[in-house]
Amino acid sequence: MTKDEYFDQKEETASRDEIELLQFQKLEILLKKVYASNSFYRKKFDDFGITPSDIRSLNDLPKLPFTVKKEFEEDQAKHPLFGTNLSEPLENFARYHQTTGTTGKPLKWLDTKESWEWRGRCAAMALWAAGVRPSDIVFFPFAFGPHAAYWGIFEGVWKVGALAIAGGGWDTLQRIKSILENQVTVICCTPTYALRLAEVAKENRINLSESSVKITMHAGEPGALIPSIRRKIEEAWGATPYDYPGLTEVGAYGIHCQYQKQAIHINESGFFIEVINPKTGESVPEGEVGEMIITNLGRSCSPTIRLRTRDLVRFKKSTCPCGRTFRMLDGGILGRSDDMVIIRGINIFPPRVGEVVEGHLVVGEEYQMVAYSEKGGEFKVMIELIEGRNRDEVAKAIREDLRQRFEIRIEVEVVPHGTLPRSEYKSKRFVDKREDLIHR
Ligand SMILES: [Zn+2]
Repeated sequence: MTKDEYFDQKEETASRDEIELLQFQKLEILLKKVYASNSFYRKKFDDFGITPSDIRSLNDLPKLPFTVKKEFEEDQAKHPLFGTNLSEPLENFARYHQTTGTTGKPLKWLDTKESWEWRGRCAAMALWAAGVRPSDIVFFPFAFGPHAAYWGIFEGVWKVGALAIAGGGWDTLQRIKSILENQVTVICCTPTYALRLAEVAKENRINLSESSVKITMHAGEPGALIPSIRRKIEEAWGATPYDYPGLTEVGAYGIHCQYQKQAIHINESGFFIEVINPKTGESVPEGEVGEMIITNLGRSCSPTIRLRTRDLVRFKKSTCPCGRTFRMLDGGILGRSDDMVIIRGINIFPPRVGEVVEGHLVVGEEYQMVAYSEKGGEFKVMIELIEGRNRDEVAKAIREDLRQRFEIRIEVEVVPHGTLPRSEYKSKRFVDKREDLIHR
C-alpha cells in the first residue's frame, strides 16, 4: 500500500501494541481531566468507589461503571441548559448539536474548538478510506439542522481539502441539476435519500448512473453495509456506497474502507470499543454478537465513558487488504438489543427482516415494519409498490422468502403508494407498538 492510501499512515497501520499504548495514554489523560473538572463523571466514579489511579491498563477499563443514555437525559433535565457532563467552562464551547430524539427527548451535545477538530479528523480518516481526495467535489443534498453527523462529514471534507457544496436550500430536482452541472464526484446523505434522488431523477428522465458521482457516503441509516440496499445504490448511481457510523453523543467511530462491503474498521486512535453480553455485562469472545460499549478518547470536554449503545455488533477476526490494522466490526450494527421482537418463540431483528424485504423492492418503493404486542408476537410488514407491479406476486414472494429465512410466517400487506412516510434524514422503517414497551 502506498502512503496515499491513508489519511494518517502512522496511526492507521500501527501495530497492536502501539495502538493499545496510544489508547491507554489517551485514556489516562481523559480520566484525569474528567475526574478533576467534570461533575457528572466525578460523581459516577465516587459513587462507584473508583479513581483514575485504579486504571493502570486497558484491561482495567471494566472497573469503571457503564453509562446509559438515560443518565444524560436525566442530568440535562435536572441541570439546564446543558447538564453537568462538561469538563470545561461554557465559554470554551463552540459547537452545539442534538440527537434526533427517536427514543426520548433530544440530548444536547457541545464541542470545544479542540474536540470539533478531533471530530473533523475522524471524519477525514473515514472519507479518505472511502477514496475521497482533495480533487473531489462533495455535495450535501439536504439540510442537516442541529444533527451532528453530516456537520462532522462537512468538517472532514474541509480537512481532506476537497470542495464542498451545501445543497440544503433547494428542492430535490434543483439538487440533481447541481450535481450534474458541477460534476460532483461524492454525495453525502442517508441511503433512503440517495434512492429518493434517483427516483426523482428517473421521473425527470435523468440517469444518475451516467453522472460523475463515484462515491456515496451514508450516515444516519446502516444501508451501505446491507447487500440489497448497496445493490440499489450502485445501480441507481453507478457509485460505491460507504457507511459512516456514529452517534451524536459519541462521535463517528467507524472507517469503511474500499475493500469491505459488509464490515467496517473501528477508528481505534479515537475510540475504545468493548463488546459485552447485555445481560451479564461480561465481555464476549471475538466473533460473538454482543452490545457495543464505546469510550471516546478525543473529546474530553463532553466525554462518553463506557457508554452502553444498545447496538449489537460482532468483532471480525480477519485482517483487511487495505493494510489498516484497526479492528473490524462484521456487518456494522447488527440490530438493537431492545428492538428484538419475539414472534412465536423465535427472536427476530427488524433490520434483518428489512434486508429481505428490500431485496424485493425497486427504486421508488417503500416499506415499514410494525410490532404490535410482545405476548401475541404480532409483526407485520407493509409495502408500497410502484405502478405496474403485480401486488399479489410481490407480496407472496416476500412472504415466501421471509418464511425460508426465518422459518416463520410473517404478514405482508400492500398499501397504496404514498401511504408510508419518507424523510430526508432517517426513515422510520420499524414502528414499535408493543404495549409493555411504551413507557420504557
Ligand atoms: Zn480495510
